[in-house]
Amino acid sequence: MERNEIHIIYGDNPEQMVKKVLETLHIENEIGKDMVIGIKPNLINTRPAEQGGTTSPDLVAGIIDYLQREMFKNIIIIEGSWAGADTQKAFANCGYLELSEKYDVPLYDLKADTYREIEVKDLKLKVCEKPLNVDYLINVPVLKAHCQTRLTCALKNLKGCIPDSEKRRYHTLGLHKPIAYLNYALRPDLIIVDAIQGDLSFEEGGCPVQMNRILVGKDPVLIDSYGASLIGYGKDEIDYIGIAESIEIGSSDLDSALITEYETDLKNNTSFQHTSRAALLAEKIEAREACSACYGSLIHALQRLKDKGKFYQIDRIYIGQGFRGEEIEGTGIGSCTAGVEKNLPGCPPAAKDIYDFLLGL
Ligand code: SF4
Repeated sequence: MERNEIHIIYGDNPEQMVKKVLETLHIENEIGKDMVIGIKPNLINTRPAEQGGTTSPDLVAGIIDYLQREMFKNIIIIEGSWAGADTQKAFANCGYLELSEKYDVPLYDLKADTYREIEVKDLKLKVCEKPLNVDYLINVPVLKAHCQTRLTCALKNLKGCIPDSEKRRYHTLGLHKPIAYLNYALRPDLIIVDAIQGDLSFEEGGCPVQMNRILVGKDPVLIDSYGASLIGYGKDEIDYIGIAESIEIGSSDLDSALITEYETDLKNNTSFQHTSRAALLAEKIEAREACSACYGSLIHALQRLKDKGKFYQIDRIYIGQGFRGEEIEGTGIGSCTAGVEKNLPGCPPAAKDIYDFLLGL
């Protein structure tokens, strides 16, 4: 796989989805059989993945099962929850203890790990030894919003690989620069993003929004630029993306990216689960058989408009396959509503495109 590739698979069964992509990409060909493979999920706290803040254990199960079937034996899971949360409890509550037992894969709490000091440009960063020492690092973040940095995805997920004291210090450094520089010290070989149901506004979860997809790639800058657009942000709104690009960690050039989609018929899942915050935003929406991937993008876009104070000026929005062929006055989102007077095409359109379109009306 080249660094300018992003692979996207739709569905609601993360274990099967990730296996399908790994099989297609033949990821086993780039890993030596004796290599130690480190899987770094996001277990920021003890809330299960259904709440939108932590990586699905089913997704990680799919990665492990695939690798073990390809005869890889040295697989470990590494994570350090955020400062104040207990990683061991997160392993237990989020389904990783069962995972570890089922596949005989050890769990390492990076809060208990030793660290090395690494100099990156003008910053000295403390980085845990375990992620530095693995031969092949798989970064498995959740795509979700963040109350300070707006986005958390591939670049920011590595913050779980530093000691707690260092996590606190990052805040004194303004977060963005050390997050970007950390990705210079630690360079994952593969990124597999859990974009099944990341949170609408906060990294800790509580307001999951179904997006029903997994993204796979190698360039964290490209992946984060694309991920930002999926939850309603431009890459320029996330400072650490630009900083990471400036020190040549990757490219944010989405126009040159090679995007491949799989199982596009599975994005037609129309059962969207509303949380209370999403329900509030949904008051603007008239949905008929809307795919959750499409509906989720619209919810993210409406939240971004709300953040900007523009939500209440938006009129009724039509979305969903049930509007195909109908000519209606008003605003329609997605190719299915091409007959609606003001329409944004796309199947599904990204939240950032929806945001820009609604803002421009
Ligand atoms: S445009 Fe229609 S078919 Fe495409 S994702 Fe949206 S609702 Fe589904």
